[in-house]
Amino acid sequence: MNVTPIYHMNYLCRDNIYYIKREDALPYSFGGNKVRKALLFFEDLKQNDSDCVVTYGSGSSNHCRIVANMAAAMGIPCYIISPSEASKPTANSKMIHMLGATIIQCPVTEVGIVISKKLDELSAQKHRPYFIQGGGHGNIGTQAYVNVYQEILDYECSENVHFDYIFHASGTGTTQAGLVCGKIINKDDREIIGISIARKNPYGIQVVLDSVNDYLKSRGIDYEDTADITFIDDYIVNGYGTHNDEILKTIREIFVNEGIPLDATYTGKAFWGMNKFIKSNRITEKNILFIHTGGIPLFFDDLEEFSIE
Ligand SMILES: *Cc1c(COP(=O)(O)O)cnc(C)c1O
Repeated sequence: MNVTPIYHMNYLCRDNIYYIKREDALPYSFGGNKVRKALLFFEDLKQNDSDCVVTYGSGSSNHCRIVANMAAAMGIPCYIISPSEASKPTANSKMIHMLGATIIQCPVTEVGIVISKKLDELSAQKHRPYFIQGGGHGNIGTQAYVNVYQEILDYECSENVHFDYIFHASGTGTTQAGLVCGKIINKDDREIIGISIARKNPYGIQVVLDSVNDYLKSRGIDYEDTADITFIDDYIVNGYGTHNDEILKTIREIFVNEGIPLDATYTGKAFWGMNKFIKSNRITEKNILFIHTGGIPLFFDDLEEFSIE
């Protein structure tokens, strides 16, 4: 898949120089970090000669939309286990439906059991199901962002710039783990700052660290240190999917001035959190890269919030 663009943001040239990497511009199913991960998972699926795919996530899940799309394109069945608590119709849930995925709803506490049952059932019917963890978590998902880290290095090299900070929305921590592994492998000096959109510490940071260790171990690189992981849980508002007026204001500002769509669950929240973090830590005169991790369909869901009375 194509290298995504990185460019300088005009609007935010106040105390620092801001760049953005447009992972939302990946040319498949509205893009985003879940495309990066899913492409690698589907390569693995093909190598395993699997004939159906099972994953989980809510109706608003970008991951589920993309997995459903890739499965439909291959002509294989896609089963999505979905917590019934988060079943409000969204642009993503409507696309998942249109793509013909089978959605199996259950209470969030039973998701694990329902997944194993479905996998057992499919195997018993002589199918070869391929399972993808929610959000595309796991070493394959981590690999996707090790690759992206390399793209960032290539950009720095060709444009003769060094990013002192990389900020992005952190959810399951897989994207962050990939970037951190890239940094460790290349022995680079910079800060990678995940702005948590839901999880609190110490759990949030631990999951990123476990993913980093898992990946590096699988590549035969030994590493054990928490110092390298900056997972900020100060800007989660009231948890996953919640937002405030300042986040909406940020989304409006960035759309008006840069023409870049952000959403209130992931990128808008992270962008707002990044601004607050930079201010409270008095960061100035640095090169800052924000990774736009996608979620474009959520931008359209959020538009309701901006409707004129
Ligand atoms: C899933 C998602 C994230 C979080 O990525 P993780 O790898 O789970 O941390 C961030 N932004 C968007 C738009 C997403 O869909």
